[in-house]
Amino acid sequence: MLYTSTRDNSIRVSASQAIARGISEEGGLFVPCELPEISLDRISSMIPMSYIDRAKTILREFLTDFTEEELDYCVSGAYAAEKFSSKKIAPTVNIDGNKNILELWHGPTCAFKDMALQLLPYLMTVSAKKTADGKTIVILVATSGDTGKAALEGFKNVDNTKILVFYPVDGVSPMQKLQMTTQEGENVAVCAINGNFDDAQSAVKSIFTDNEIKSLLAEKNMMFSSANSINWGRLVPQIVYYFSTYCDLVDMGKIKVGDEINVVVPTGNFGNILACYYAKRMGLPVKKMICASNSNNVLTDFLKTGTYDKNRKFYTTTSPSMDILISSNLERLLYHMSGEDDRLVVDLMSRLSTDGKYTVSDKLISDIQEMFDAGYTDEESVDSTIKSHFDRYSYLCDTHTAVAVKVYDEYVERTGDDIPSVIDSTASPYKFSASVLSAVLNGEKPQLDEFEMVEELNRITNADIPTPLASLKDKEVRFNNVCDKENMSEMVFKLLNI
Ligand SMILES: *Cc1c(COP(=O)(O)O)cnc(C)c1O
Repeated sequence: MLYTSTRDNSIRVSASQAIARGISEEGGLFVPCELPEISLDRISSMIPMSYIDRAKTILREFLTDFTEEELDYCVSGAYAAEKFSSKKIAPTVNIDGNKNILELWHGPTCAFKDMALQLLPYLMTVSAKKTADGKTIVILVATSGDTGKAALEGFKNVDNTKILVFYPVDGVSPMQKLQMTTQEGENVAVCAINGNFDDAQSAVKSIFTDNEIKSLLAEKNMMFSSANSINWGRLVPQIVYYFSTYCDLVDMGKIKVGDEINVVVPTGNFGNILACYYAKRMGLPVKKMICASNSNNVLTDFLKTGTYDKNRKFYTTTSPSMDILISSNLERLLYHMSGEDDRLVVDLMSRLSTDGKYTVSDKLISDIQEMFDAGYTDEESVDSTIKSHFDRYSYLCDTHTAVAVKVYDEYVERTGDDIPSVIDSTASPYKFSASVLSAVLNGEKPQLDEFEMVEELNRITNADIPTPLASLKDKEVRFNNVCDKENMSEMVFKLLNI
């Protein structure tokens, strides 16, 4: 299988080249030239498999330049049982009737990013051996909170890699910040930036494509790559869990092979929901993908009107990992849905960077609307959803998951479409203890420190506290760098000692 770029589809690269480089030279994103088909019989054959074997079945189709031994090494290492707090790796939990929750946060950093970022370092080092001739790979990450920690944990002490993470100084939860600033490992560094996630992401993207910086790195035998979901190696592992949850629903007796399901995704950078789109295109019976946003509802507006407009107020919400106004992976959807029109993508993306907005044709948006629905919700509804689901079903969800649950409930009310559904749960409630605790307590905000809140939440709800979060209490803070967004490239040089 070969990959091309959303902004120049004469380009052809292998999977390992796409993964090692992260982003295409001219600024486009790598996408597969064609998609493999997974028949219903293949899906049936995956039902008795472990998560590792399901993952190999899907990934084998995409990583055609990996040997079977390499694939096995990568997948078995990434999803080793001792790294996840659930034997099933990504379990599906039925909460009521046709409403199911896909828990994607049982990995080492308690957010869904682990599903991809436990695997990416393996894919990247194998890819680099094939393509990067001994260069050290420098991973630059812009994070809205969860990617940073998951990438640090995945890449720590991985030979021939260095990882630098930038996070918005006021844009992450105290637990997320502590997870990053206490990170262990010889090849890691973390820096806060005065700005929001979009500032960090734009600066990282421009550093990637800056020829002067790139040649300076090359002199030192280094090259940049990305662990953000612009990297194909981040997206492809996420396709797996959509097939896996479908198999689990069959196994649970909720559906028969061939039945359609709806999928609801709390969305920021459009990576997670795009992986579902790929699964659908490959043959997974998905009817609608429902894109759930918080008050930063730029995607809801786009999916309803065809106009993407980032010129709006940026809200800092209780679901910070979705506080994003430039959703990078939408570019991939536009490319595929426009019949692979790279000129159109170049035009739309240049409008986005000059005017901050673009409008697509009626035909394109109505094709997209056939597959996607969308909704958004505010902070108050997030709190009442956490509370009502805990009271009614004894199910505790985090703030991001609650956005999706609420948007789903409204979707069912609006459309009457209540076929079996999967709602992605993207973080452990303990990562956002302050918000979740106050929701459970009907708005009361107890004066406790972060770890006391974790314990209080545990006392009230009885939900298990993930070990990796509890153990942060005793860790030393290693990083307290802060820089302005204009000075990020200097900070990169400083952190790399060049
Ligand atoms: C990253 C993240 C999201 C958004 O996922 P995208 O792939 O960026 O759309 C949602 N919830 C949590 C907890 C996250 O960490």
